[in-house]
Amino acid sequence: PPAIRKISEKHDKVFVTGCLEPDTSQPRANAAFVILARNKELDGVLQSMKSVERHFNRWYHYPYVFLNDGEFNETFKETVQKYASSTVEFGKVGPDMWGYPDWTDEKVAKEGIAKQGDAAVMYGGLESYHHMCRFYSGFFYNHPLLLKYEWYWRVEPEITYFCDITYDPFLKMIENNKTYGFTIAVKELRETVPNIFRYASAYKRLNNLKSQGLWEMFVEPKEEKEEEKKDPTLPEEIMQSEPGSNALPPIDGEAMEGEKYNMCHFWSNFEIAKLSWFRSKEYNDFFEMMDRSGGFWMERWGDAPIHSLAAGALLATRDIHYFRDIGYRHTTIQHCPANAPSRQLPRSPFLEMTTKDEKKRQEEDQYWEDWDEEKENGVGCRCR
Ligand code: GDP
Ligand code: MN
Repeated sequence: PPAIRKISEKHDKVFVTGCLEPDTSQPRANAAFVILARNKELDGVLQSMKSVERHFNRWYHYPYVFLNDGEFNETFKETVQKYASSTVEFGKVGPDMWGYPDWTDEKVAKEGIAKQGDAAVMYGGLESYHHMCRFYSGFFYNHPLLLKYEWYWRVEPEITYFCDITYDPFLKMIENNKTYGFTIAVKELRETVPNIFRYASAYKRLNNLKSQGLWEMFVEPKEEKEEEKKDPTLPEEIMQSEPGSNALPPIDGEAMEGEKYNMCHFWSNFEIAKLSWFRSKEYNDFFEMMDRSGGFWMERWGDAPIHSLAAGALLATRDIHYFRDIGYRHTTIQHCPANAPSRQLPRSPFLEMTTKDEKKRQEEDQYWEDWDEEKENGVGCRCR
């Protein structure tokens, strides 16, 4: 039906449909898997590698770069090499990319972290987790081992792919002029990022950036502004998010424009992205402004909302690719192509989700029903 056609044309389409033999005819992209891990995570790393190899890399042989703020031991290195069908490099993350920068007051930062621990903010009291989030927000792409690469695919311990990926996602992203790819978007825990949006929207405003369609994905719809959902179990000082009355310093020229973060973010433990975007002046200015606020210590800003809000401020919808054909799971959250969850993306511009327009929503549901049928014929084929 024409209505559905119309919607589907607006959608960011999957790169490849149909059950394919792995296409390895083209030369590889300048790309690598990146895995940040610790020695004690070896089992989880192997689980991930087996899955990556089984469903993709046994045909494509992209190299792996392992990073660690400590030293990898021999067991880790030897074992990991056995499971890779490609070259493997191991790198140390130095203190220039991990830990407190010299302009922070470590005592204040540590107190901030302890406070979040007391308030039971998820990972809030874990200092190393804060360091990890900051590393993945503002540094990984400049690690010496990654400088030679133009693209990266992030892998974590304990992930599972459950569909064969029979095309090269890097090449498809290049071909289609994409910058950033995701499989899952979810809502962040509000108490981990109470002030993040103040800074992100201030960055956008101070740099006169106009939304290119993606920003709206992260903004709570105005017409739906209910009473702020407060969690009474969390202390006020962590939840305060109005300008002038919070733990983080005020921002120059601050004006809230009435926009609120809807907590949506790309779940960055899966990420296929162009490193030159992260290395761009704009992205690094963004990171620096976010970093200087102290939000990586006084709150527990994750790299996922950082990457997402940077994309919202700097990229256009057409720069983003939703890998809805990639079956992926990490811990309790998964994306299964067989029931492509449009509802996991609140107000996604990809999905034309509007809570108001019931007709549109019905059209969208219809679209996804059709899409599922298509799937029976092969999208996300060879799932196992
Ligand atoms: P979660 O997925 O948010 O629960 O966080 P994880 O514990 O999986 O951490 C995210 C990624 O960072 C994983 O690849 C971990 O192996 C890695 N990671 C987390 N903390 C550290 C750390 O202190 N050192 C190192 N080397 N890697 C870490
Ligand atoms: Mn993880």
